[in-house]
Amino acid sequence: MRIRIHQYEKTALLKELIDEFIPPGQYTLLEDEDGPDAGEAEDADRTGADADAGTAAEAETDRVGEIRADTDEDVLEINRAGSGDRDTIKREIFREMAARTGKRPDWGILTGVRPVKLAGELLSEHQSDDAVRRILKNDFYLSDEKADLIIDMYHHQIDAIGEAAPGSAGIYVGIPFCPTRCLYCSFASNQVPDTEIEAYLPALHYEIEYCGRKLRENDTMIESFYIGGGTPTTLTAKQMDELLDTIRKHFDLEHVREFTVEAGRPDTITPEKLRVLKENGVDRISINPQSMKQKTLDIIGRSHTPEDIIRAFETAKAESFDVINADLIAGLPEETPDDFKDTLEKILELGAGNVTIHTLAVKRASRLIGIDSEYHYKAAGRVGEMLKWSRERLDQAGLLPYYLYRQKHMAGYFENTGYAVRGAEGIYNIRIMDEHQSILALGAGGISKRYFPESNRLVRVPNVTNYTEYIKRIEEMCMRKENKFFN
Ligand code: SF4
Repeated sequence: MRIRIHQYEKTALLKELIDEFIPPGQYTLLEDEDGPDAGEAEDADRTGADADAGTAAEAETDRVGEIRADTDEDVLEINRAGSGDRDTIKREIFREMAARTGKRPDWGILTGVRPVKLAGELLSEHQSDDAVRRILKNDFYLSDEKADLIIDMYHHQIDAIGEAAPGSAGIYVGIPFCPTRCLYCSFASNQVPDTEIEAYLPALHYEIEYCGRKLRENDTMIESFYIGGGTPTTLTAKQMDELLDTIRKHFDLEHVREFTVEAGRPDTITPEKLRVLKENGVDRISINPQSMKQKTLDIIGRSHTPEDIIRAFETAKAESFDVINADLIAGLPEETPDDFKDTLEKILELGAGNVTIHTLAVKRASRLIGIDSEYHYKAAGRVGEMLKWSRERLDQAGLLPYYLYRQKHMAGYFENTGYAVRGAEGIYNIRIMDEHQSILALGAGGISKRYFPESNRLVRVPNVTNYTEYIKRIEEMCMRKENKFFN
């Protein structure tokens, strides 16, 4: 299929919507010929009198010739009316693509990461669920189910944790190391000897000291603390103890409502490490099985067994961790809906009170994209079935959907959803998607976001992703924060 979008430059944003209907390899986005020279080009196309048009036009001539050689094929012309409004153009794309493909994506014209945030903004503007539901369906073309889901979810979030207190912040500390690299991974995750981790930690301690001091000077109340990665429990118990000690020394944790550490890889969890976490005030951990099927774990490059996962849960319970989050992925290679169901049943049996169901995404930085760049289209049917079943099963088990986000290149263009029993909702997860609170991110790859309530905008302050650069440029990372986050 060939598609031409008239008089709109930011076509990358529109392409994301087209991709939901057909894979990029199955269509060509033609250049827009509208504008001052369009008449000439079209005349040339009709008459074929373009041979003397001059050097600058030769490329254009070739392109027009290429189109003309194919006149039997339909070109989908979008935005002939020349609207400058992106949503108007997206609606036209949606209608045309739905008519041609017979598909009607549940998320309508929304391609962004944060649909619940949109529901919240519309609710604060219109103050009525019915009005917002109408807008989501009529203007954004959401299905009834998705419109209801995000409205209910927004209310659930407010009931569960309230709005962010003015001037409060969430803190993220990144440990960009993992024992092996997963097939689908696109995060900062390095597989290195302990000497490299040892070289990273002093820089991180330095940034913690600096940021802790600045937050105290600015009287910022820390609401949530999250150590993620990577896999933070790649650190030894001693390294973790020292890290948490520095955190407790330099940050004022008096008002922290939630302190989470991702203990993502079951093979990195030991009773000793969990004891260190507990003794230092950590009250939530994630154990991320992804699957309970050995063959899948092997395919995706995890170096542990399903038994390691069971052992990790038992250790966490023995160390009195009440809130354990488990991440699962729907759509892993070679997994059937029955495999996925089996995994979820086992995780519920193990007592996870907070479960995040991810939809497999084929990211550009992942190894998976090199194996099959259209995997996410092929897996759509079975992933849809897995997600539907997991919603029902988790509801039955008393876990309600409380946060949600979307990513590019997800199987079936569905979503990732966090479910929790009441009281176990993740504050940090909600706030980072809601974007009405500053997030200060430390460590390699951390992206801080300063929130300005007066203008309802965020300023991003990234650290470098490469951990050796981070070590070398730690002063610069602090200065970036000095200038853009703390000023
Ligand atoms: S555990 Fe997470 S961060 Fe580590 S390699 Fe796997 S996907 Fe990447």
